[in-house]
Order: sequence, then structure tokens, then C-alpha cells
Amino acid sequence: MASDAGLAAALRRLASTPHLLVAVDFDGTLAPLVERAEDARALPASAQALRALAGLPGTTTALISGRALDSLRAVADPPARTMLIGSHGAETWTGPDRAPLTLTTGQEELLARAVGVVERTVAAHEGTRIEFKPAGVVLHTRTAADDVAAAAVTAARTELQRLGDLSITDGKRVLEIAVVKADKGQGLALLREATGATGVLFAGDDVTDEDAHRTLGPADVGIRIGPGETAAPFTVATPEDFADVLQALVDLREAGARG
Ligand SMILES: [Mg+2]
Repeated sequence: MASDAGLAAALRRLASTPHLLVAVDFDGTLAPLVERAEDARALPASAQALRALAGLPGTTTALISGRALDSLRAVADPPARTMLIGSHGAETWTGPDRAPLTLTTGQEELLARAVGVVERTVAAHEGTRIEFKPAGVVLHTRTAADDVAAAAVTAARTELQRLGDLSITDGKRVLEIAVVKADKGQGLALLREATGATGVLFAGDDVTDEDAHRTLGPADVGIRIGPGETAAPFTVATPEDFADVLQALVDLREAGARG
């Protein structure tokens, strides 16, 4: 990280913004990717840096994840005042008075049919798994053989497309199906409005994070973790490298608060 002079300069500028929002993805960004989603944990250095940022004046921390909120809370153990966006923006938690997500009858029926498709797909493709979300369902193929994974995704997608108005998104060895149209860009916009942030750090490692990267402006800093097409101006190779970025931001903002 230190070798990237452009990123270092951008972090220095961001650290002096009046209200800083640090909104980051969890899996593959704070936490290394693992085979079983329930085993994911933030790197200790990243968790510590996020806690430090959450405690600084004029600074709000947030997690923006594809996970359902319950799953995100279970693995991420976020600092107390951290705002949470789950299910790629379909679920939001910005404080205790926020109403939970509710589906219309039509959305509930559509979700039930989508769940049926994924259940049949998982039964027919060894090593694939289903995950239930409040507004969607996920086909996980990370633990399946490559050819089985590809066949499962193709089979599920073909059937799902016949069901109607679903949002279907490919991720890293996952097929995400949602009945509420939402993306991480909308999630980040909601956080920006709720906090009145004057500068944002956003970071993510996957295709769905690009929706948020595309909303960033000149006062913000966007970082892509790992390889892949990205709208982010900066890339770091690994979650370990991103922990260094977070710590650098802590140091810069603490120095600014003292000075
Ligand atoms: Mg991720």
C-alpha cells in the first residue's frame, strides 16, 4: 500500500474531510474468503482499525454486504454504532428506530417459487448449497466441482428466468436471486444521506461492489480488493493489504483530530 503514492495522497485528503463515512464490504474485503460462509471472520488488524475509526469524532463506520443482516451480524461482530446494509441493499440498519424489511404478497409468492427452483437445483448438483435470505435466495457453488457448479448455475438460471421479475446476479461462485431490486450503490447512497458524510471510503472485492464504486465522487476514495474489472481508482491485492489501508486512515485521522 505504502508504495502506491496516489492512494496515500487520496487517503491524506480523505482523512481531513469533516464527516467521514467508512463503508466497506465484508467477505473478501475485511475477511478472507472461505469455503463455508459461517466461518468467515474479519482479519484482526481490520477489525481493530474499524473499531478505532468508529470511535473517532466525525467518523461513521458501516458494512455493506450481500449477506442477510443476521448472517452479517453473526460473522462480522461490528462495532456498536456501525451502520449495516445487508442483502446488497435490500436490508438496512441505520439505527434502532429503523423498520425491518417487509415483502408484498406478490414478492413472497415469487420468493417461494425461486426457493423451489434453487432447492431442486441443489438436490440435483452435488456440492452445491442453498442460503435463505429475507428477500432472496442464494445458490452457492464454491464447494462443488467446477463442471457441476457451471451446470447448476445454468440450470437454475434457465428456470428462474421463467418466473418473472427477479433480480439475478452472478458473484464469486454464487448465484444471487432477489425479489427486492436493490444494489450496493443504493445502499451506499442511503448511508451517505443518513450520515451527511462529506467524504466516503468504499472498498469491495466483487462484481456487486461495482454498483457502489460507480456512485463515488471526487471527495471519496474507492478501493477494489483483488483482480477484476473495476470502476475504483485504486486496487490492493488482498484483504491483508486493505487492513494496512484502514490502519493508515486511522493514523491520519487521529493525527488530524489531535492537530
Ligand atoms: Mg465481498
